Amino acid sequence: MSRGLIILDPGHGPTGNRFTILTDFYEGTQMWHLGQFLRDELTACGFDVMLTRPRLEDNPSLAERGEMAGKNGALMFLSLHSNAPGMMNSPEAYAAVNGAETFYSITDPDRNIPIAKALTEAAVSTMQTGDRGIKTRLYPDRPDLDYYGVIRAAATSGCRQAFLIEQGFHTNPHDSAFLADLDCLRRLAVAEADAISACFA
Ligand SMILES: [Zn+2]
Repeated sequence: MSRGLIILDPGHGPTGNRFTILTDFYEGTQMWHLGQFLRDELTACGFDVMLTRPRLEDNPSLAERGEMAGKNGALMFLSLHSNAPGMMNSPEAYAAVNGAETFYSITDPDRNIPIAKALTEAAVSTMQTGDRGIKTRLYPDRPDLDYYGVIRAAATSGCRQAFLIEQGFHTNPHDSAFLADLDCLRRLAVAEADAISACFA
C-alpha cells in the first residue's frame, strides 16, 4: 500500500542558473538529476512520487508546479534548488558563501518545522557544508501568504506540507563540486529520502 504521494519539483528549466565556477553545469539540470534519484529512493520507501519536470527539458510555471500538489492530493511538495548569494563586495566574498537551508510553508508551522529541520540536516551532513537552518519568507504585506511561488501555489491548492530546499551554493567551489557529481547527488537523495520517510513514519 502506498504511504502517500510526494511531488518533487526540480527547480528551473534545463539551462536555469549556470554554475559560476564549473560553467558546464546548470542548477536546473543538476536538480533534475537529483529529482530522478530522489524519486527512486522515495519509491523504494513506499511513497508514490510525481515530478513537475518528468523530462529534463520541461519548465512549467511556478503556479503549475505548486498546484500539482493540491490537485493530486499530495502528502508533501518539495522544490529542489541550489543557491547563489546576492551581490557581494568581492569575488572572494561571493565564492565564500556556502551552506544548506530549507524554506517551509507558514500555513502549518507545527508540522512543517520538524520536516524542514530534517531536510536541512540531511543536506548539511551529506554535503559537508554550512547549516543555514530553516526559514519562512512572507509575501510583502501579506502575513498569511508564502513568498515563494511554488510553496504558495502548493499551500493554497491544499498541500500545506510545502518546502523549498537550497542544497548548497552553485557559486561556492566545495558545494559546486558536490552538486556537479552524480554519485554525490545520489547520496544526497538517499539521505533526504531517509529524512522524509522518518518524518512521515
Ligand atoms: Zn533555484
